[in-house]
Amino acid sequence: MRAVVTGGAGFLGSHLCDRLLAEGWEVLALDNLVTGMECNVAHLRGNPRFQMARADVTRYIEVAGPVDYVLHFASPASPVDYLKLPIQTLKVGSLGTHNALGLALAKKAKFFLASTSECYGDPEISPQHEEYWGHVNPIGPRGVYDEAKRFAEAMTMAYHRAHGVDTHIVRIFNTYGPRMRLNDGRALPNFVHQALTGQPLTVYGDGKQTRSFCYVSDLIEGIYRLMLSDEHLPVNIGNPQEITILEFAERVRAHFPGAKPIIFEPLPQDDPKRRCPDISKARRILKWEPKVNLEEGLGLTLDYFKKQFAAGKSA
Ligand code: UDP
Repeated sequence: MRAVVTGGAGFLGSHLCDRLLAEGWEVLALDNLVTGMECNVAHLRGNPRFQMARADVTRYIEVAGPVDYVLHFASPASPVDYLKLPIQTLKVGSLGTHNALGLALAKKAKFFLASTSECYGDPEISPQHEEYWGHVNPIGPRGVYDEAKRFAEAMTMAYHRAHGVDTHIVRIFNTYGPRMRLNDGRALPNFVHQALTGQPLTVYGDGKQTRSFCYVSDLIEGIYRLMLSDEHLPVNIGNPQEITILEFAERVRAHFPGAKPIIFEPLPQDDPKRRCPDISKARRILKWEPKVNLEEGLGLTLDYFKKQFAAGKSA
């Protein structure tokens, strides 16, 4: 079996490549390295079942030979990244998804879309279940990501219904773990970078907004089960353990003796107030639920960040 993973050098894409290779697949990773990093797949160099090609999937995707699965993971995914790269974010979610679906159709391959809890926007209900249509500001700063992913879901369902492509959609909630970029601007890398460089941890707003953080190995397990399932409608994968950002900052800070106190900065526009997945569907159809608790996952991730920082790979 041969898979094409777009965004294969990214945080999640590279972990997915690892998992597919471990399951015996051949993998072709495509990445334009805008937010992905070659070092995320450096350990796979020399594996005869792994190939990496530099490619911008918003242009036509050319792949020689048979393909059994196209997994579309390419996209900036941190608010700071997609605010810096608004047009690229819109293009990879729209044109990139269309091209990746076109590749799957041409190769008679299955298709998997990495979608997001951002489809729910700033939700009016909590936890968020898959039937909720969301509360998104299309023209706000986050709209470039949210609407691109909503379009990507619509396009995926259209290819499924009109062309009969065997498609799958995961809505990924906040995920953390090794290979996040220390400078990607998300809460955890920011807090760690600040603690490592002796700066105060910056909590935006009053810190009462919530998130639910899933460790990467749990997420990849859910994705792997979904890609082999018969489910075509979106499935939430995330950890339902909800925590305020202030408490999260305190938990991270506790790992750094002598770290400066937390300071408060303005809340970015349209920052969701609550985010917590309802994972009853994943539990029911995939028999999946997260196994790694926050303390364990934080320990593993902080070890990684500390090593990266010591090796000077912070940027
Ligand atoms: N946040 C924060 N301080 C930071 C970075 C982020 O308080 O230095 C907050 C941010 O406003 C949001 C939450 O942490 O409420 C999670 O932000 P992140 O960028 O990780 O991802 P999001 O869930 O918003 O996509």
